Amino acid sequence: MRRATSVIDLRSDTVTRPTAGMRAAMATAEVGDDVFGEDPTVRRLEECIAELLGKEAALFVPSGTMSNQICIKVHTQPGDELICDVNSHVYNYEAGGPAVLSGVMCRTIEGDRGIFDVQHLEGLVRPDNDHLVRTRLVCIENTHNRGGGSIFPLEAIRRISNWAHRHNLLVHLDGARLWNAAIATGIPLRDWAEPCDSVSVCFSKGLGAPVGSALAGTKEFVRRARRVRKLFGGGMRQAGVLAAAALYALEHHFHRLAEDHQHAQILAQTIRNTPGLRLFPQHIETNILYADIDPRLGTATDFTRALAEQRVLVLPVAPQRIRLVTHLDVSRAQAEQAAIIIQETAKRLALQAA
Ligand SMILES: *Cc1c(COP(=O)(O)O)cnc(C)c1O
Repeated sequence: MRRATSVIDLRSDTVTRPTAGMRAAMATAEVGDDVFGEDPTVRRLEECIAELLGKEAALFVPSGTMSNQICIKVHTQPGDELICDVNSHVYNYEAGGPAVLSGVMCRTIEGDRGIFDVQHLEGLVRPDNDHLVRTRLVCIENTHNRGGGSIFPLEAIRRISNWAHRHNLLVHLDGARLWNAAIATGIPLRDWAEPCDSVSVCFSKGLGAPVGSALAGTKEFVRRARRVRKLFGGGMRQAGVLAAAALYALEHHFHRLAEDHQHAQILAQTIRNTPGLRLFPQHIETNILYADIDPRLGTATDFTRALAEQRVLVLPVAPQRIRLVTHLDVSRAQAEQAAIIIQETAKRLALQAA
């Protein structure tokens, strides 16, 4: 039985550890009290993000969840409704944030790998009537996590934005992995952000920073978001040590995301060619892939355990589905090694079942 020489952790792109260069940048960061607006490194990061996303202003926040939930809170009133894909992060993985923090209801639509278009939205805006909740916001996720790292086509985002604005709705973009969409397509970050009223990005995913996200929008939006960040407990003091990691990540780890996408293709090709495993989606666009396990090989948990014995870590996400994500801490050689181990494990489990 083959084992990886060191652990190959494909559970998530959040498992990366700060590099020596990043730690050095953190150690030497100029800092101040950011709640007083006095941390020069945080300010520099916020200016950099506003510039990259083509927005008036940006705000550094502790997590992607807080970033999304601040945006939802600023855009809505209690009793409002937001529209999102049924598999979206804001709906599934943020502990009921829209309901708990903003008193907002979610109306879900069934997209394709998290992607939808205007035809899914037609007729969903509630008429102005005392009985009805008020439709207020459309949330888009790009790339889409549960959709398998799928890229939301820019043309669809533009159509959705035009439609939403015509109906007096706002558009929020959960761009935790917008970096990956930009690298995979060559379309600049600001083009993706342009149709959206607010954008959230994460430094703690593929970019490899230990902590941190940012939101961006108009000056007035960010002024209100700053107050909500305080309300949610996200005001940070000498946060420049974290902002320095994010700045370092933008400078050194953005363009290399292309490598993660190549490594995902290595895994995808092997999974496609492995009896008992089925790749989802068939076409992998960025750094996330799912594999459905034929029940004859056991459950997703069985398969995960068998891989872990060989030092390959994956995430079971459904009874028969595992997730694999490539990132900064997985080299090409490790992706190739993991692919072989996955294939051999599937073969072994199939033989045991026969
Ligand atoms: C990871 C992620 C977030 C934010 O997650 P945090 O762990 O709170 O930083 C938001 N949206 C998507 C699509 C994500 O994958």
